[in-house]
Amino acid sequence: MCSVARATGVGVLQLMMNRGLRLDQYALGGALRECSAQHRLLPGQQLHALVYKSGFDGSAAVVAGLVDMYSKCRMVAEAVRAFATVPPPERDGNCVLWAVMVAGHARNGEPVRAVRLFCDMRSAGVSPNQFTFPTVLTACAAAAEAAPGVGFQVHGCVVRSGFGGNAFVRSSLVEMYVKCGDLTAARKILETREDGGSGDGGNEVGWNSLMAGFVRGGRANEALSLFVEMRRRGVDEDEFTYPSVLNSLAAAGSVAEGGAVHCSIVKSGFGEGYVHIGNALVDMYAKCGDLESAHGVFDHMPSRDVVSWTSLITGCARRGLYEAALHLFCEMRATGVESDYVVAAGALSCCAGLPALALGEQVHAGSVRRGLDAFVSVGNALVTMYAKAGCIEEARQAFDAISHRDAITWTALIVGYAQNGRGRESLRLYHRMVESGARPDYVTFIGVLFACSHAGLEEEGRRHFDSMERTHGVAPGPEHYACMVDLLGRLGKLSAAAELLDRPGFAPDAAVWKAVLAACRVHGATAGLAERAAEALFRACPGDAAPYMLLANSYAASGRWEEARRVRRLMRRRGVRKEPGWSWTEVGGEVHAFRAADRGHPRAAEIYAKVEEMMERIGEAGYRADLGWALHQTADAAVELAHHSEKLAVALGLLIAPPGMPIRVFKNLRICGDCHQALKLVAKVYGRVVVVRDAACFHHFGREGICSCGDFW
Ligand SMILES: [Zn+2]
Ligand SMILES: [Zn+2]
Repeated sequence: MCSVARATGVGVLQLMMNRGLRLDQYALGGALRECSAQHRLLPGQQLHALVYKSGFDGSAAVVAGLVDMYSKCRMVAEAVRAFATVPPPERDGNCVLWAVMVAGHARNGEPVRAVRLFCDMRSAGVSPNQFTFPTVLTACAAAAEAAPGVGFQVHGCVVRSGFGGNAFVRSSLVEMYVKCGDLTAARKILETREDGGSGDGGNEVGWNSLMAGFVRGGRANEALSLFVEMRRRGVDEDEFTYPSVLNSLAAAGSVAEGGAVHCSIVKSGFGEGYVHIGNALVDMYAKCGDLESAHGVFDHMPSRDVVSWTSLITGCARRGLYEAALHLFCEMRATGVESDYVVAAGALSCCAGLPALALGEQVHAGSVRRGLDAFVSVGNALVTMYAKAGCIEEARQAFDAISHRDAITWTALIVGYAQNGRGRESLRLYHRMVESGARPDYVTFIGVLFACSHAGLEEEGRRHFDSMERTHGVAPGPEHYACMVDLLGRLGKLSAAAELLDRPGFAPDAAVWKAVLAACRVHGATAGLAERAAEALFRACPGDAAPYMLLANSYAASGRWEEARRVRRLMRRRGVRKEPGWSWTEVGGEVHAFRAADRGHPRAAEIYAKVEEMMERIGEAGYRADLGWALHQTADAAVELAHHSEKLAVALGLLIAPPGMPIRVFKNLRICGDCHQALKLVAKVYGRVVVVRDAACFHHFGREGICSCGDFW
């Protein structure tokens, strides 16, 4: 009869009753199980009516079926009502009924109630079995916050009831401790065998969950040692073992061991065919910096999802290969894989790194369409992308659109304002950040001090510098010192800057010394400071022409022409070179790149004609070539300067960018003093806004002929 009922459902049961046949608990139980498995509430409720009519609502076994059906249909209150109809003596003799009650509450987001029911069950004298324990242990993990320590008590109960050796119960215990964050306790269970022998050695579930727990907790080495231990004990590895192991290797950066594990994965038959193993392999190789192997695995995967692409894309991005990363991103979209918020944020940071504004705007539009801009990581990447492209208003809009801002959000715009020459807005935002309760970090203070130095705010700068460690617990690093030197240098307070350099416990790096030389270039080489900086730089970056040029210009600034010439001679004798400068500009989504005196562009002839026109028109407006910036002090020095890469890029912008649109140029080095002077006048006489992002900051050259950096960079 039982099999008939299961096959044909409630209708048959009803028919049987109508004909006067007596139902039994097996028929009812079978029909209820069918409803539970399919989460079908309506026939379940009809069965409940039958149960009631036939007087089975006092039977613990039948009611267990009802409780299970209701809790799988997410009707916990109904389950509780059904449970209450069973008289206590019947109820307390049936551990299955209690078990489904506990499981029902655990499954429906009421872990605390589940644990309490378990206690009620124990006080009613019902003995739990190997099926009750896993359920209540899951509930303990979920209830850990509300009822800490309860898992430990249930553990004691497991031991007392003699289930300590049961493989299922043990792996549930491990999982419970992992979820509660007590990894040491979890490890202890795995490593001690109460029955002293076999039986649980082959159960890999507990080992896998502990390993995953170590990986999530950032304890890669412990995860790896667990893997070694697991092999030593002969526990079988499965497809869920490897991702944890590979993640640990990625975190530990051990590419050699990664290769060995890769081999054993192939041997065990769990190859790239399993997408999540393939993904973990790509990610491991990419994080260890072995992009070639990452590509190799990726190419062999029979199917790929967005995670596979993300690992490869972020791998490229981490190595600064932004173009390659964006290429992959476009390929991913072309193959029809939809982006998620992780890959969208990654692509946007690549756009910021290049920067590639047009593609960034596309990704932005796509993210809005798919609702990904609601993720704070995407919002943060948008703020940075726009700020780094010099579009500070758009950065502000992206910032305003983020409803839950974190420290990275605030920092992105603080740094963005600072680099775009809007120091006071940057500082105002910093105060709002602190008021909002967000904690400023190392990078935030780079932005804040940069803002102070560019706005020439000495007192405020000193105050923030002192508050970093004292109030916010962030120890100042070389970048912060460089900003302070820059700030003091800008104000001509070179001896105060020198004092800062001699602070105990601080070792200036190349960036700091370059800031010193930049200050000397403006205010003249005094008190041996320029020489000290230049010597340090000659040692730190031999072969770089920049410190020689800066030192020569510092001497020139204080009228010491003979010494300036001596430095230039030294530079020639030592055969140092200028690091090749590149400038690029993006018009209509296409990137045009130039070196100095570059004739490789298809429209080179027009560009050079435009440069000539440009130099003539600014000459009429008062421009004189600043020959101190030429590498070779020859008759052609002025021509050399006129063909600097940023001037070529601006000339192209004047030729092809739509009228009225700002010309945006990016440069890998700092802009030179001559180009800076020239572009101020270009912006004025052509009535065009020119934005140059160089290695240090942004220069917004306005139509009035002044630069946002205040002529100091
Ligand atoms: Zn230049
Ligand atoms: Zn400037």
